[in-house]
Amino acid sequence: MRYGVISDIHSNLEALDAVMALFKKERIQSILCLGDIVGYGPNPNECVDRISGLKKVQSTAGSHDYASVGLKDMTWFNDMAVRALTWTKRKLTEKSRAFLMRLPRLVDGSAFTLAHGSPRDPIDEYLLSSLQFLDNLPYFRTPVSFIGHTHVPAVFYTDSLGVIQNKPLPEGRAVSFDPEGKTIVNVGSVGQPRDGDPRACAVIYDSEKRQVKMVRCAYDIESVQKKMRQASLPLYLIERLGYGR
Ligand code: ZN
Repeated sequence: MRYGVISDIHSNLEALDAVMALFKKERIQSILCLGDIVGYGPNPNECVDRISGLKKVQSTAGSHDYASVGLKDMTWFNDMAVRALTWTKRKLTEKSRAFLMRLPRLVDGSAFTLAHGSPRDPIDEYLLSSLQFLDNLPYFRTPVSFIGHTHVPAVFYTDSLGVIQNKPLPEGRAVSFDPEGKTIVNVGSVGQPRDGDPRACAVIYDSEKRQVKMVRCAYDIESVQKKMRQASLPLYLIERLGYGR
């Protein structure tokens, strides 16, 4: 099966549509979504509709998804995130709210595990270090776990010498993982990348070949920024889309 894996869409419809168009070309059969469908950007309901309207999709909740429907306290977020979340909360339709509230914290599948932050702390952990990777190993049983939340694509695994590897994911090049070992793949962010590349980021996962490949899609950033200005969303959130930071 060829899966398209996405995370941190953050109400950025143009970025999501660009990724979906690429997935179509790549003959993707099913979508795995790691949450933060909303927050920051100007099109929360449209992004929820895109995801909920997919025929084959499995999705977990992200911190912004839960906060926007009152399932998580906003005191955890910085001022700009709170401003965008407060705006998002007002905009969400009943249908979108109901969908976001039903999202699970974790998808514990037979071949893969899905979490927004980490298998250990699915909603909140920023998994950045090799030590955190090691601490997370007891919390998933599958050869691969997909995460997001940091908005930076990366792969964590233990190599044949037992050394933990913590590497950025290369663009467009398939990376194989060990079916006997455990790998964590951070798929980056569709709608607000922070690795210095402003293009939308996603991962293609081939479950038969046991490979993941990071892909990037250019999209119309300016039209998203224009909509954010019209909605009076924070300037910093508008500008960072252009830098990918
Ligand atoms: Zn996020």
